[in-house]
Amino acid sequence: MFRMAKVTLIHTSQELQQFHEKLQEDSLSLGFVPTMGALHHGHLSLIEKSCEENDFTLVSIFVNPKQFNSSEDLAKYPRDLASDIHLLDGLQNCVVFAPSEADLYPANDGFIPMDLGSIGRVLEGAFRPGHFEGVVHVVHNLFRLVGANRAYFGQKDFQQLAIIRLLTKHYGFQTEIIACPTVRETSGLAMSSRNMRLSEQERKDALMIIEVLRHIASMKNKQTVQEALSESTALFSSGKLTLEYLAVVDPETLIELTDWQENQICCIAAHCGSVRLIDNLLF
Ligand code: AMP
Repeated sequence: MFRMAKVTLIHTSQELQQFHEKLQEDSLSLGFVPTMGALHHGHLSLIEKSCEENDFTLVSIFVNPKQFNSSEDLAKYPRDLASDIHLLDGLQNCVVFAPSEADLYPANDGFIPMDLGSIGRVLEGAFRPGHFEGVVHVVHNLFRLVGANRAYFGQKDFQQLAIIRLLTKHYGFQTEIIACPTVRETSGLAMSSRNMRLSEQERKDALMIIEVLRHIASMKNKQTVQEALSESTALFSSGKLTLEYLAVVDPETLIELTDWQENQICCIAAHCGSVRLIDNLLF
């Protein structure tokens, strides 16, 4: 059987096609983990789950310009392919696909945008115009190239996960979407490639994000949703973090709630210095 003892790096869609043909010859399953690199243990948890559940795992590393709504944010996004590959050392049957922009977005790529509906307009959609349209385009092109049996996404990007489910259905991809829990530092800070850009002090300040989420969860059925949100929003007047949004929403529709339900998700986006962080808690 076709096996790989070391992580293999491929760059072109042609190489990917050849890899895919080998898998098909042996009827081997493929798990897919799309990333923008600067890999950390959050990414690794998805990759390890894919390695457990599939014969082969493909990790894509591509900083997608289409999903950035600020050129400064795109320019500052961390990129280090060598250390990404190093982190994956020791994984068997793992292939890294690091395509060029021209390869992933050929002219006339046949992509037809979809209407994301209300899920695409709230939270991140409201504050990052064009972001999800860029996510849908890249995931569409990747899914079409990769043809995976399963694809793994983090609940850290909860709204993105909801949109991935929508696009999978809309474009008729046969890939099963697997949701993976958020991996946190022991401090509670959600792991993120953007954390690399935080100073020591900012890392401490950023803990307010998880503290606020846990506080709101602890107020369920003790205060009204509005009281819990107002009390928490007031904490941001200290100025350490600049709050962009804080909302309690329905996990299916992402519609803001005025009353507690059995399950809800509290979502937050805040700027810590020049770094924009997002997090959420399902409770
Ligand atoms: P990114 O490289 O930020 O585009 O993330 C690639 C994938 O990793 C996405 O599905 C993210 O939701 C997931 N991810 C990022 N951070 C974490 C984390 N702390 N825990 C679990 N999954 C994560």
